[in-house]
Amino acid sequence: MKKSIETLTPAVIKRYRVKPQEKIDLKRRDPGDSAIPDLKKKDEKRLIEGLNKKLAKLQNLLYAEHKHKVLIVLQGMDTSGKDSTIAHVFRGVNPQGVRVASFKVPTQQELDHDFLWRIHRQVPSKGEMVIFNRSHYEDVVAVRVHGLVEPAVWKARYDEINAFERMLAEEGALILKFFLFIDKDEQKKRLEERLDDPQKNWKFSSNDVKERARWPHYLKAYEDALNLTSTKWAPWFVVPSNRKWYRNLAVSLIIIEALTRLNMRYPKAEAGLQSIRII
Ligand code: AMP
Ligand code: MG
Repeated sequence: MKKSIETLTPAVIKRYRVKPQEKIDLKRRDPGDSAIPDLKKKDEKRLIEGLNKKLAKLQNLLYAEHKHKVLIVLQGMDTSGKDSTIAHVFRGVNPQGVRVASFKVPTQQELDHDFLWRIHRQVPSKGEMVIFNRSHYEDVVAVRVHGLVEPAVWKARYDEINAFERMLAEEGALILKFFLFIDKDEQKKRLEERLDDPQKNWKFSSNDVKERARWPHYLKAYEDALNLTSTKWAPWFVVPSNRKWYRNLAVSLIIIEALTRLNMRYPKAEAGLQSIRII
């Protein structure tokens, strides 16, 4: 890997962005795919360090300019690597301008409200970057798979989500949504690791085993969500995530490209700075 990694960004975006109106079939996608054939695992450390620095610079600019808002949504099956993507891709950013919002099984108070209530409270403000570790997409995925509401209710939510995200975008939010795509064999390996490695035991939940049995239902629910809610203003990316290092690089490249396109500028300095002497 001699070329600058960023020259490969267009290939990554082209391969993984779900176009509006596209009908993707997850069964035909490869969770071990690479858009960059000569990229090797041994290259990752050096490359991700470079990308971490770039992202940190862009985030500093985002914070200073105080104009745009950035929302990153991470979804995926259990063990798909949402937590680890956060740890690796955002290493080095300034915690002052970045926040993670994790969405768990809703509390009674949350359930007593509309499904976007708890989501809207966590969206980024100007200059801020917020990472959603799970999101409102659970309300058309987990909720659907478990039949927690009537089908008519979750079916109406795709349009509601698109309208909500459109409003956020029109109010200055850059929205990027990542589906971390693994296959069932990879999940088996990762669940076994959680059982075997004492440092990973805490991550194991017997609930994940029950959810695993619903794999095809989850896949279908995700496929519909990806096909019905990938929009110009809030695109989905299906990121092959069987290889963790590749997933990290792909997510980093996509975020950096989108932030670069914002053409951010540091705010204008006060007039007359040159004549000020600090005594
Ligand atoms: P984890 O991210 O592993 O801590 O697990 C959180 C759990 O909360 C997952 O099983 C999600 O599917 C579940 N969850 C998150 N949001 C919702 C929701 N809106 N409705 C039902 N289950 C949810
Ligand atoms: Mg879990």
